[in-house]
Amino acid sequence: MASGPFPRTVLVNGGAGFLGSHLCERLLQAGHSVVCCDDFSTGRRENIRHLLSNPRFRVMEHDVREPYDVAASLIFNFASPASPPDYQRDPVGTLLTGVLGALNALDLARRNRATVVQSSTSEVYGDPLQHPQQESYCGNVNPIGPRGCYDEGKRCAETLFFDYHRKYGVDIKVGRIFNTYGPRMRLDDGRVVSNFIVQALQNQDMTIYGDGRQTRSLCYVDDLIEAFMRFSGAGSDCIGPINLGNPVEIPVLQLAELIRDLTNSRSRIVHLAAAVDDPKQRRPDISRAAEELGWRPRVSLRDGLEKTIRYFDAVIGQAATEGRE
Ligand code: NAD
Ligand code: UDP
Repeated sequence: MASGPFPRTVLVNGGAGFLGSHLCERLLQAGHSVVCCDDFSTGRRENIRHLLSNPRFRVMEHDVREPYDVAASLIFNFASPASPPDYQRDPVGTLLTGVLGALNALDLARRNRATVVQSSTSEVYGDPLQHPQQESYCGNVNPIGPRGCYDEGKRCAETLFFDYHRKYGVDIKVGRIFNTYGPRMRLDDGRVVSNFIVQALQNQDMTIYGDGRQTRSLCYVDDLIEAFMRFSGAGSDCIGPINLGNPVEIPVLQLAELIRDLTNSRSRIVHLAAAVDDPKQRRPDISRAAEELGWRPRVSLRDGLEKTIRYFDAVIGQAATEGRE
C-alpha cells in the first residue's frame, strides 16, 4: 500500500477543503488516524461531515499561520485558498498563509521527526515560457501582479521546504499540483470548472475571460489523491519537486463547449475581459511522476466532468428543495 505498512497519525492542514477532504477520506480508508486542521475560511464542514463518526478522525479548528502542536508523523500542508477570487480577496493573508503555514508545518515536522508534504502548484511557473512545464523550469511569475500573493507565497514555501531539508534534515515532499477538479468544489469558488458547470446547469451565460484560447490541463481529484498517496508512502524516497496533474490540454473555449454539450445546456458563451497575468498555456510534463511513482492519471476529462456535473446537479437540486421548504 502506497501510504506505508503501518497506521500513522496524519495531520491534514486544509482538511475541510476540496482536496484536503478527499485526502482525509483516503487516509482513513488506508487505516490511518487523521487530524484535520482547518480555519474554515474557504473549506466547509459539509465536506467532512461524513467522516465525523469515525473514531480515527478528529477536527482541529486552527489558523496555520499560528504555531500548533500535534503528535503526527506525517503532515500534509494543504491549507491555502486556491481559487484566484478566493486568494485575491485577502492577498496579504494569502501570502502569509503560504509562508507562515509552510514554516509552522516544517517546524512541527522538525520537532516530531515527521515527513511533511507540501501542496505546491503549477503557479510557481507563472505564465510559462516553457511548454510543457518540467520541474527544472524556474518560471515566469510577476511578483507585483494580483496573482503574486499566491504564486510568491508558494514559491517561498518551496524555498523553506528545501532549506529545512538541507539545513535540518527534515523529510520533505513537494508536489506541484496542476488544475484539479471534482466533487466538493464550492459552487461559487470562481474556478473555471465550477463556474462553467453551474452556469451550464442553470442555462446562464458561460463566462470566458478573454478569447478562450488560453489552455489548462485538468486532473480529476481521485487521480491526484492517488498520486499523493504514492508520493507520501513508505515506498517512495522522492522528495520532489514533482509535477502532479493530467497532461491532456484543452483551450478554455473548448472546455466551455464540452461542458455545455455534457449538460445539454442552452447557455450562451460570452466573452468578458481577460484576467490580469492569466497564464496563456499550462501543461505538466509528468515523466518524473511516471518514473518515480509509477503514476499517471486514469480518469478521462469527459468521465471526470460527468461525475462532477452529477455532483453539482445534486447540490443545486438540494439547495432548490431547501429554498422551497
Ligand atoms: P480549498 O480552498 O478548497 O481548500 C483549502 C483549505 O485550506 C480550506 O478548507 C480552507 O478553509 C483552509 N485554509 C485556508 N487558509 C487557512 C489557514 N490560514 N489556516 C487553516 N486553514 C486554512 O482549495 P483546494 O483546491 O482544496 O486546495 C488545497 C491545496 O492545494 C492548496 O494549498 C492549494 O494551493 C493547492 N493546490 C490546489 C490546486 C487545485 O487545482 N485544486 C492546484 C494547485 C495547488
Ligand atoms: N476562466 C474563465 N471563465 C471563468 C473562470 C475562469 O474563462 O468563469 C479562465 C481563467 O481566466 C483561466 C482558466 O479559466 O484562464 C482557469 O481558471 P481557474 O480560475 O480555474 O484556475 P487558474 O487560473 O488558477 O489556473
